[in-house]
Amino acid sequence: MSKVPLTQKALVFDAFNGPLEIREIPVGVPEDDEILVRIRYSGICHSDLHIWMGDLEAISKLPIIGGHEGSGEVVRIGKSVKNWEIGEKAGIKLMNFNCNNCEYCKKGHEPLCHHIKSYGVDCPGTYQEYITIRGVDATKIDPEMDLAEAAPILCAGVTVYKALKESHVLPGQIVVLTGAGGGLGSLAIQYAKAMGMRVVAIDHESKKEHCLGLGAEWFIDAFGTKDIVERVRELTNGGPHGVINFAVAKKAMENAVQYVRKRGTVVLVAIPKDSKIEIDTTHLIFNMITIKGSIVGSRLDVDEAMEFVKRGIVKVPIELVRLQDVREIYQKMLEGKISSRAVVDFSLI
Ligand SMILES: [Zn+2]
Ligand SMILES: [Zn+2]
Repeated sequence: MSKVPLTQKALVFDAFNGPLEIREIPVGVPEDDEILVRIRYSGICHSDLHIWMGDLEAISKLPIIGGHEGSGEVVRIGKSVKNWEIGEKAGIKLMNFNCNNCEYCKKGHEPLCHHIKSYGVDCPGTYQEYITIRGVDATKIDPEMDLAEAAPILCAGVTVYKALKESHVLPGQIVVLTGAGGGLGSLAIQYAKAMGMRVVAIDHESKKEHCLGLGAEWFIDAFGTKDIVERVRELTNGGPHGVINFAVAKKAMENAVQYVRKRGTVVLVAIPKDSKIEIDTTHLIFNMITIKGSIVGSRLDVDEAMEFVKRGIVKVPIELVRLQDVREIYQKMLEGKISSRAVVDFSLI
């Protein structure tokens, strides 16, 4: 059995917007149904920034160890765990502790279970060197997969993949991605293409080459286009079959409802500060339009999302950083200066 220390380093904050400090804390001991994972990498998600800022104050439990995109290997196994071996690669996603016995769990919608708890929000997350997790919650990562590349798939990757599935856009049909040049959008272009969808990317003109390079078929300048609704309809011959909204803007969501094709689906992922939008219900009814939300994905969705990366058809642009750099990355996120996924490399502590 590999040696596990008694204490470890963790990035902790005691107050929202407060200092992020590296502290020496005890290494968790796995319960009978849990495994202990040595975390090698942890992606820095935009939600981590919002949790630190107190936007999820109602459910957050201070002090908090953030992080919910962890990857590493199993170093201890609880005695009733059947599905893990020491040394196997494991992933830690955001939502866990589902009951496996309610209507939602039985249908494979675990994130909707009433018992769900989220790593890095209401229980300690992946900005620590070791973490305990139930054997049934941890994600199996293929031995061939690069752990640094796997980390962002546990939240960002599965979020976009699930949203695309929820759009019910079929191969050969058209999907519009708003905010396509950002972190989630850049992954979504690749997933959509891999799923056979034709992509219209909408973002700032400066992101045009980036989006087209990733596989978008068309690009629309979000700020320089006079009438976005008309332009999308014209380009897509009556509107796209689905829209995934990654833009943190009310107008982008309202436009999507206007330009989506009859019987089309608008999937909302980004959460702007003012998250209320105005909808012309007559337009919605007469055109049989669906508007829905999508949040992360099930354990199976995570497995499926990983498979695309393993096969090399979705690439995750990552930048490795140190645990002590997380605060600086949050700042860059606030300034919109992050282009690739920042991933904490625990070997750099
Ligand atoms: Zn996340
Ligand atoms: Zn349940």
